[in-house]
Amino acid sequence: MKLKQDLRIAIIGGGIGGASAAVALRHAGFNVNVYEQAAAIKEVGAGIGLRPPSIQYYKKWGLLEEIERVTHKSVQIEILSEQAEVLLKEQWPALTEDPNEKWARLIHRADCLDTLINAIPSEFLHLDHKCKSIVRHGDYAEIEFENGVKVEADLVVAADGIRSLARNLFFSQAEPVFHGYHAYRALVEEAETYGLASENTLRIFVNDKVNVYLLPLKYRKQVSVDITVPHHDRTGRPNVPKEDMLNQLKNFHPDLQKIAENIDYWDVRALYDIDPVHQWSNECITLLGDAAHSMLHNQGQGANMAIQDAGVLAECLLEAETVAEALQKYETLRKPVCQLFQNLSRQFHNDKEDTFFPEKEFFENAAE
Ligand SMILES: Cc1cc2nc3c(=O)[nH]c(=O)nc-3n(C[C@H](O)[C@H](O)[C@H](O)COP(=O)(O)OP(=O)(O)OC[C@H]3O[C@@H](n4cnc5c(N)ncnc54)[C@H](O)[C@@H]3O)c2cc1C
Repeated sequence: MKLKQDLRIAIIGGGIGGASAAVALRHAGFNVNVYEQAAAIKEVGAGIGLRPPSIQYYKKWGLLEEIERVTHKSVQIEILSEQAEVLLKEQWPALTEDPNEKWARLIHRADCLDTLINAIPSEFLHLDHKCKSIVRHGDYAEIEFENGVKVEADLVVAADGIRSLARNLFFSQAEPVFHGYHAYRALVEEAETYGLASENTLRIFVNDKVNVYLLPLKYRKQVSVDITVPHHDRTGRPNVPKEDMLNQLKNFHPDLQKIAENIDYWDVRALYDIDPVHQWSNECITLLGDAAHSMLHNQGQGANMAIQDAGVLAECLLEAETVAEALQKYETLRKPVCQLFQNLSRQFHNDKEDTFFPEKEFFENAAE
């Protein structure tokens, strides 16, 4: 390690991005402190698919057993019509150098976060710390929290999500972009899906406007239900009647409608992402995860990109002579792939598409 172990590293945000960064940097031998605004890490979100490059990092960080315990392997996805006829079956694409690694490990977002948080000793995880200002003084920064605490850091990793304070202060004042959709997320018991969910396969029922995801969480005996419907209400957590969503399902298979009707509690969010950000880093502050490249869920890459950002950042810090050099390298390595997925994720799935994974073309071309 060329950089000093006593480098003061502050991570703002304890989501999947911030927690991954803490695990990756601790594994690389650095001391880190994580500052999260919430008073507790709570179970939020839905099912996600962790891809081989992300699982490789879990393995590197010594967390393979933990992540395998709360995931199961899926080798294919299916796109189905509104009436549940299979339109497309596709293997998950290989995103590593090994062409046999065509799979994803399905997991609930909360379990993904837990595996990371559990690997961070509690004395380095500071809950109830909402960052209110960051002032840069050359090669170090001063951070102030709403609870009055102030810290200095030689490296600030801003993993503070789509509405990142650090991005706004140092890199871009552009507002998040609303896409005219609402996402409804809930968990149901396997037995309550009328046989429409498949044990190992992510199934997406589509028409030209609506996507219904059934993602099996076999290890929980549950299924994650994620429904995206067009809606004009831009409120982040819109207070809309469930009928707004149910009306959009009118032409869908009756059992899919029943699944949605039977669910009492939905987590409903308006769908936002950000436009690509030109610069992510300065001498001592960098963005990571959604703060750098928040994307829509359509390619299932938000969490994966955050985990891989963390892995690459730690590698760059290990190799570099200075923090500034490491941050430049990190940004150069991560920006192209993250911005590719940001752009591709703006395409919603429909019943006419011939692949679920348009990124294959880019990865295959790069491998030639
Ligand atoms: C509530 C929620 C549910 C989600 N559900 C899904 C899902 O079902 N499927 C999916 O693919 N993706 C989902 N995502 C997105 C996915 O988790 C992210 O793309 C990915 O995990 C990247 O995480 P991140 O840590 O960069 O950002 P986030 O997950 O947004 O985490 C940012 C963290 O920073 C904290 N924070 C923000 N501002 C401050 C501040 N000023 N001071 C201190 N802390 C701050 C936040 O409280 C949060 O914990 C969800 C995100 C959220 C927030």
